[in-house]
Amino acid sequence: MSSLTVELTAPNGKKYTQPTGLFINNEWVPGSKGNKITSINPTDESEITEVHAAEPEDVDKAVEAARAAFKGPWREMPPTERGDLMYKLSQLVEANKELLATIETWDNGKPYSVALNEDLAEVSGCLKYYAGYADKIHGQVIDTSTAKLAYTIREPVGVCGQIIPWNYPLGMAAWKLGPALACGNTVVIKAAEQTPLSILVLANLIKDAGFPPGVVNVLNGYGRVAGAAIASHLGIDKVAFTGSTATGREIMKMASVNMKNITLETGGKSPLIVFEDADMEQAVKWSHIGIMSNMGQICTATSRILVQDSIYDQFVEAFKKQVESTSKIGDPFSDETFQGPQVTKAQYERVLGYIEAGKSEGATLALGGEAYKNVGHGKGFFVTPTVFTNVKASMRVFREEVFGPFVVIVSFKTEEEALEKANDTTYGLGSAIFTKDIVKAHRMARKIEAGMVWINSSQDSDFRIPFGGVKQSGIGRELGEAGLEAYTNKKAVHVNLGTWL
Ligand code: NAD
Repeated sequence: MSSLTVELTAPNGKKYTQPTGLFINNEWVPGSKGNKITSINPTDESEITEVHAAEPEDVDKAVEAARAAFKGPWREMPPTERGDLMYKLSQLVEANKELLATIETWDNGKPYSVALNEDLAEVSGCLKYYAGYADKIHGQVIDTSTAKLAYTIREPVGVCGQIIPWNYPLGMAAWKLGPALACGNTVVIKAAEQTPLSILVLANLIKDAGFPPGVVNVLNGYGRVAGAAIASHLGIDKVAFTGSTATGREIMKMASVNMKNITLETGGKSPLIVFEDADMEQAVKWSHIGIMSNMGQICTATSRILVQDSIYDQFVEAFKKQVESTSKIGDPFSDETFQGPQVTKAQYERVLGYIEAGKSEGATLALGGEAYKNVGHGKGFFVTPTVFTNVKASMRVFREEVFGPFVVIVSFKTEEEALEKANDTTYGLGSAIFTKDIVKAHRMARKIEAGMVWINSSQDSDFRIPFGGVKQSGIGRELGEAGLEAYTNKKAVHVNLGTWL
């Protein structure tokens, strides 16, 4: 349908056909009420295009298609063939990575080199990894007595609703699609309204790979409309969500309507601890990457740096130098750019709001702290990388997730104090420790309240390794073998081999 595509030329000159509809049952269809989402280029605030927004009625249609596929062709397909389709999809992503990275950069603002070499490598890698699992999901035989055979079957959960954020639009889609499909589920996935474009091109690749209709249904839509319809849908068996803790809480409530299986990956205020015996140069480099990459829009961003008092001043100076020499702000399509714009005006204003909060609460602004309008056209949602020192644990900037290039650097005296400050948060997602003392490193790793600990690095995640949080950073795990757990139910079969009755 020609009205459901638009011919676009990206700022880097790449021309392509952008789908704009809803992808249901391997067909492109319009939203039922004609409502649209406008995609904005955060670099210059221009309008890219409009796409259809799903209404609850459209979610119903997608769920119906997903249910039919679950009961029919997908359930019947041998798992090795399922894996073949996923592998094919990973190859198609690899073959189209320049286009997909271009759209990601245009719509999200992340540097093109990062989109291409990190995000897209993650997408194809993650799909390939889970493709290999499709025929390796086994039950167990459990020995109880000679009179009984007991075994388990790992069955798919059913129709899975997946609600994803805007910071890694395709990356988050792959993290969610990979394990769900490997385990034999069908999916209704909703992208974030801030970044609706790339997932629609991925939908075309899903069809091209040969997935039967209804196995993956891709919707754009507003959170409070389409997201809420997914979370509360009686025909959906599981919901997986990545986004803010506040929305995660809402989703939990809505999902209770039919006791959906849930996985939530929510916010963080992750600590990075630098002990006086750390390799200073390494600690500075990693802590910079840990908060300033992806414009600070990372759920595991190590946004609270805790430094032992004996090296505090030295660290702060070195960190500021690292930011000044590395965090080049600019057009995300330029090779030299490290930092593009924040994803939307709302996120940009949110970061500026926290800068004001830090100042008014009495923290010391050590670097940055302003809107940046020098990219050429004087537009865009750019913020200078910001460092606050002299920060108290009671301040909002120490406690709340900013989700921007914004860090607080705090000092501590002893290991106990470092731990107390690190754990003084309602969150528990990432954490990092810098020391050369391996005993201390592992002791700290045990005591930190977080789902992930990096020793002498930060943001060093990998799709083969479990990812997720404790406390209010989420429920369940994604990635690695652990990521399969949430997408299967274990059925226990008891076979009576005795003759007592
Ligand atoms: P959000 O949590 O509101 O949105 C994430 C996803 O949830 C989107 O797809 C959205 O459409 C959907 N959604 C929103 N409200 C919903 C509802 N009531 N029911 C069902 N789905 C709903 O996040 P946001 O408003 O885009 O960003 C706000 C803050 O969230 C950020 O500043 C950041 O702190 C945090 N965030 C975290 C992550 C992460 O990776 N953990 C990602 C994005 C945002």
